[in-house]
Amino acid sequence: MKINVNELKKHIGEKIVFSGFIDAIRDKKWVMFVILRDNTGKVQLTIEKSDENNKDLLEIMANTTVESTIRAEVEVMENDAVKLGGLELIPSKIEITSKAEPLPFDFNNLDGVNIDTRMDYKWLDMRNFRNTLIRQVESCMTEAMRNYLYKNNFIEIHSPKLIGTASESGSDVFEVKYFDRLAYLAQSPQFYKQMALAGGLDRVFEVGPVFRAENSNTNRHATEFTGFDLEFAYIDSYEDVMGLEEDLLIAGLSAVKKKYGDQILEVFGKEVIVPTKPFPKIKLKDLYAKLHEKYGFDIPKEDVGDMNAEAEKLTYQLAMEEYNSEFMFVIDYAATKRPFYHMRDENGKLQGYDLIWRGVEITSGAQREHRYQELLKNAKEKGLGEDVKFYLQFFKYGCPPHGGFGIGLDRLTMLLLGLSSLKETQFLFRGPNRLNP
Ligand code: ATP
Repeated sequence: MKINVNELKKHIGEKIVFSGFIDAIRDKKWVMFVILRDNTGKVQLTIEKSDENNKDLLEIMANTTVESTIRAEVEVMENDAVKLGGLELIPSKIEITSKAEPLPFDFNNLDGVNIDTRMDYKWLDMRNFRNTLIRQVESCMTEAMRNYLYKNNFIEIHSPKLIGTASESGSDVFEVKYFDRLAYLAQSPQFYKQMALAGGLDRVFEVGPVFRAENSNTNRHATEFTGFDLEFAYIDSYEDVMGLEEDLLIAGLSAVKKKYGDQILEVFGKEVIVPTKPFPKIKLKDLYAKLHEKYGFDIPKEDVGDMNAEAEKLTYQLAMEEYNSEFMFVIDYAATKRPFYHMRDENGKLQGYDLIWRGVEITSGAQREHRYQELLKNAKEKGLGEDVKFYLQFFKYGCPPHGGFGIGLDRLTMLLLGLSSLKETQFLFRGPNRLNP
């Protein structure tokens, strides 16, 4: 196994092999300093010019370039004079394992580099420490949330992304040629999560790709993103779903704060705040009244019964001012604005919610309608027929009461680090004008 920069201290006085990128070459009169890098940090390799034995090494280094990769047999030495961690590597053998051509831009200084150029060369863009950190933080958050669910008896499932019918409605769905007919890319794992519960699995989750043919160029919409979706059975109300989401986010954010809190503050200027339970909760009607009263905001006619981007932004402001909370649950959406599978109570009131964090919706959740006849009625009301027929069957032969939610993982990371858009956040962004690399 490769020894990383952050493990070198354990090897002082030992002869080891160190591999990494060449970050910089400082060719002085008497000595050559080569700064090596891996994704845990940087270390100095020192080649004394006065030592006859180093002639070959110096020649190899003279013929190489920064960003090439190197494999060096070295002795790890303590040296207080060295700024990088107080140690240096003294090589006895060097091999350039891959030679880099001149780079199209300096990834260490991305100010002024066009975001499209950065995406074109994503593998260079990522070498910037800040962008490495984005991936590390997202991975840490996902790991902690996964672990929380495993501990609470959830099973991870993998549902198909190629599907035979356009799931919830015809809009926003990508069609793909599937031999001599059409298939569609899944807009969410919703139906299959619920099918798993009808199949007797009580608690399931999936972390996987979600496709949306939304031709919108906002900072928070991508055509492909990663959904962190879960569904669980034997709930009493959607409040159980909200409670689980609180615990899940607390688990994720606690882990991120512990491992990367300081670095996030230093690099992104954002404090990781672990929320406390319960998150504040507000009915949509009361929220409208508050937003009007405090900020003079009125929801446009077409969005009545729902939120829009401006309302989400102001909801954050309200949550901070009145509850000192970055999170806010919004409940009591209009059933007409929500999918047919969200449960309504006997008065037609929707049993679902959205969660707003730092001014953006990160989740929709709900108790689901598990009663076949009710579901049939709701689907008809929305004018859905053949397309959901297969889904309705799941509820014909017994299915426990249940609920769940989907978090947009990319959005979560974007908000966590205060990034300006998904283009900067996603490992590889997919949008209306971006399919490569
Ligand atoms: P929005 O109203 O913001 O478009 P939505 O209501 O379509 O979102 P859902 O279908 O409820 O979203 O999806 C669950 C979650 O997935 C959302 O809360 C959000 O975090 C994320 N999400 C939805 N659409 C996108 C997208 N196009 N790109 C990235 N994340 C998304």
